[in-house]
Amino acid sequence: QEKANLDARSRDDLRCPIVVIMGHVDTGKTKLLDKIRKTNVQDNEAGGITQQIGATYFEKKTLETQTARLNETEKVELTVPGMLVIDTPGHESFTNLRSRGSSLCDVAILVVDLMHGLEQQTIESLTMLRKRGVPFVVALNKVDRCYAWKTCKDSPIRDALKEQEEGTISEFRSRSTNAKVQLQEQGVNSNLYWEMGDEDWTNSDFIPLVPTSAITGEGVQDILLLLCQIAQRKIWKQLMWCANLQCTVLEVKAIDGLGMTVDILVVNGYLREGDKAVFCTLDGPVVTEIRGLLTPPPSREMRVKADYIHHKEVKGALGVKVIGNNLEKVMAGTSVLVVGPNDEEEDIKAEVMSDLTNLEDKLSTDKQGVLVQASTLGALEALLQFLRVETKPPIPVSAIGIGTIHKRDVTKISIMNEKGHPEYATILAFDVGVEREAREHAQEMNVRIMTADIIYHLFDQFTRFMGELTERRRQDAQSVAVFPSIIKILPQHVFNQKDPIIVGVEVVEGILKIGTPLCVPALGGLHVGKVTSIESNGREQETARKGASVAIKIVNESNPTLTYGRQFDATNMLYSTITRASIDALKEHFRDALENEDWRLVVKLKKVYNII
Ligand code: GDP
Repeated sequence: QEKANLDARSRDDLRCPIVVIMGHVDTGKTKLLDKIRKTNVQDNEAGGITQQIGATYFEKKTLETQTARLNETEKVELTVPGMLVIDTPGHESFTNLRSRGSSLCDVAILVVDLMHGLEQQTIESLTMLRKRGVPFVVALNKVDRCYAWKTCKDSPIRDALKEQEEGTISEFRSRSTNAKVQLQEQGVNSNLYWEMGDEDWTNSDFIPLVPTSAITGEGVQDILLLLCQIAQRKIWKQLMWCANLQCTVLEVKAIDGLGMTVDILVVNGYLREGDKAVFCTLDGPVVTEIRGLLTPPPSREMRVKADYIHHKEVKGALGVKVIGNNLEKVMAGTSVLVVGPNDEEEDIKAEVMSDLTNLEDKLSTDKQGVLVQASTLGALEALLQFLRVETKPPIPVSAIGIGTIHKRDVTKISIMNEKGHPEYATILAFDVGVEREAREHAQEMNVRIMTADIIYHLFDQFTRFMGELTERRRQDAQSVAVFPSIIKILPQHVFNQKDPIIVGVEVVEGILKIGTPLCVPALGGLHVGKVTSIESNGREQETARKGASVAIKIVNESNPTLTYGRQFDATNMLYSTITRASIDALKEHFRDALENEDWRLVVKLKKVYNII
């Protein structure tokens, strides 16, 4: 039956392309989505724009009216039945979603702030889109910020550019060229879309640039028409409608009066009330009957509380809320399938679980490492890839999870404290909520929860934390670690004989450091005191190396009456007092601070002190 369905596909029966808006924070993604929704709505009063679950649907006739002015010259015949734009712009959680192995979104708008050029998250998004083979346009947004820009509300961009003075045009030119060069540096060829040649259009690696203003609407028509063109020219094969169900969970959430609901995006095929659906959870597949399929009411005015429209049947592509039993543990980002009359339930279960099992196979988690929790499977995958492959050195991961962080997650990772890896008693939470109880428990259990909704922010936080930890450990170790040295007192430079002893010395071997305890092995290990300052030519310094002559202050807390010239004098060499523990601390934290020669001195001192 599957084959028959596929054979029935045709270029004349396309489904709506699914569009996602991506880009760095503050580039204008939200504003652009708003603008796309609102442009020219006054011209088509009924709207033709429907709010779905997690997405906004644009009917074909709306697209036609919205692009009418531009299309007078472009003359593109629309064959797509509409367009579905995902409502959470910029969310990496949604952009890495897959549906039966291919990307959930068909086309993307990558928003770049024309004033700032490419930014970190732009580059991340770019990398992901290319890896997934998703075609995209780049919106060079905030074009209205060019000096002395004259607003041409909602007009096609070329019309707007014609109205600008030379100075404005020249700023626009130099900024867009700059963006082009930056894209080139990322290995992406691009051009203002109207300057692209025919061969550029057929080259899948060539990216069209569209200047836009999400505030005044210039270029928004161009974006819409370009998306349709890309859909129709480049990916029509993937858009051929077919009856095979293909859908992905966007979000799992509790709704008053409905219980736990699952928001899904149906890409292709039908979903019906009463269908026996199979969902993926961390605890294995869940089979449940679909009790309801809901979308929001058609217009805001009609919306009373959670007043949804119920459907007996829905057809892809669209976003819909599903009600049913046992949906609590369903994972966002996984596929949903329906057991048909000719299907083996076990096969369907295995297929639904395959997204997760594939990831787990690839993962083979480390024994010691942090817990990584993300909002969707796609986001988790992107994050793991980043932490384990692209991060140098990789951040080890011992456990993964999807969805809100609960107390039990904190308990799970707190065992890293017992295993002697307190640094890994850490949860990296990507775009997920944290229950209050979990936060409190984390404090008690010494577990850190780092949250962010941008991947590299999490990485930054963790790296900063590791840096601080290393530094803190170094400082702790400083009181234990002792640098090896042998020093000779210069008898003509004795400034104070006791409490504190202040003398001129020559470092005969090794490194003398503030904090070093000194003794005279020849006098049965007489403890002389700790070096509290080192001075050379009137300047304080932290260390003095072999050959240096310096003035030092020695404080002996346990025996302040110890006096130079009585219990010891310049005929006695002073040695750093070392122990097994001090050597270990030195090896762990100061390996690089010592030269080979210094390590040889450590070995020599070990013999002096009989340290095995
Ligand atoms: P997001 O973080 O990418 O969703 O960015 P927003 O849509 O929240 O926009 C960030 C800021 O840039 C807001 O203050 C917007 O008003 C402003 N902004 C967005 N698009 C434009 C634009 O085209 N022109 C100008 N002048 N400002 C814009």
